[in-house]
Amino acid sequence: MRQAGRHFLQIPGPSAVPDRILRAISMQTIDHRGPDFAEVGQTALEGMKGIFKTSQNVFIFPSSGTGAWEAALVNTLAPGDRVLMFETGHFATLWNKMARRLGLEPEFLEGDWRGGAEPDRIEERLRADTNHMIKAVCVVHNETSTGSVSPIAEVRKAIDAAGHPALLMVDTISGLASIDFRFDEWGVDVCVSGSQKGLMLPPGLSFNAVSDKALDYSKEAGSMRSYWDWQDMVGPNATGYFPYTPGTNLLYGLNEAIAMLHEEGLDNVFARHARHGAAARAAVRAWGLEVLCARQGQESGVLTAVLMPEGHSADAFRATTLQHYDISLGNGLSKVADKVFRIGHLGDFNDLMLMATLSGVEMGLAKAGVPHESGGAQVAMAHLIDTKEERVAAE
Ligand code: PLP
Repeated sequence: MRQAGRHFLQIPGPSAVPDRILRAISMQTIDHRGPDFAEVGQTALEGMKGIFKTSQNVFIFPSSGTGAWEAALVNTLAPGDRVLMFETGHFATLWNKMARRLGLEPEFLEGDWRGGAEPDRIEERLRADTNHMIKAVCVVHNETSTGSVSPIAEVRKAIDAAGHPALLMVDTISGLASIDFRFDEWGVDVCVSGSQKGLMLPPGLSFNAVSDKALDYSKEAGSMRSYWDWQDMVGPNATGYFPYTPGTNLLYGLNEAIAMLHEEGLDNVFARHARHGAAARAAVRAWGLEVLCARQGQESGVLTAVLMPEGHSADAFRATTLQHYDISLGNGLSKVADKVFRIGHLGDFNDLMLMATLSGVEMGLAKAGVPHESGGAQVAMAHLIDTKEERVAAE
């Protein structure tokens, strides 16, 4: 049966696509080898450098983020190479599994899924690796399964403090364009991202930002690869073209998204996400529920993962909210399946959308008979009223 009004897609990506981007994507597809395409390609490639905050290299693949994960590994690492990964949650675990499948030897520093990667432990492990057998350190920036953020600049410092030459690889699939990310300043070597989160696009594009050092490695090193080869991209990309058919219409959308992010100002975008995260957590605590991220200062502005009270099913609760209030909340993944639900507050999102979302959650808690204190949405509202952010001039 038809549901009146609009659906609230409050999973932590894909995020709802703004009308401006939908309109841009709906333009007629053009010849990706024709003269008009060069500007589309160049604008996208240059524009993404600004989003990653890099003057080095960016590659764009017509794939989901998982493809760019693979590209990061196969362009720089060969079977048998050791990599150090940190278990921040489900996505770090999947990247680790991929590394094993590709014949790498990942070492997984165990985590409790309640915070970001720990630089001290990374430094300790690297110091013990006196023969420099570890070729890369891989960290997830915003762990979408838990709502925790890893301190990337501190991870770089840890690698340097250990005097270790390993490459730093970062998955910022759900962090980019929502949480500050500084590829060059933080000394990242390879970064992985995707279109369907902070960039406000539908799924279907993925990205690698690549340092000159990592690109040099890829000339000689790496694994067997073809579709993901950065070296095939370099030549055509220089004039705005691609070695195979790009996601032409998604690139129109990407150029619109980049323009929108600069119109708002990247710092304002980051502040907006952080403020919405804080308001959401205030609501959760007022409901008497627990936020999964337990490390102060590492809570995500992209999503809030909420622990269900013992004996209550997160999936049953989500089904109730979907049925009665037409809102999709994120599910708990692998280790925390059915134990948490995730509230996405990312992308093209404002105060009233957050209030509707939190009201939907609170109504759902009541409808599903989940024990809680009422009034969390009210607390979030007060937080928003009290903290209307000062906006800096857009770029
Ligand atoms: N890494 C993170 C942090 C993610 O959030 C996701 C998807 O949600 C992925 C990797 C996998 O990306 P995709 O589903 O686009 O292949």
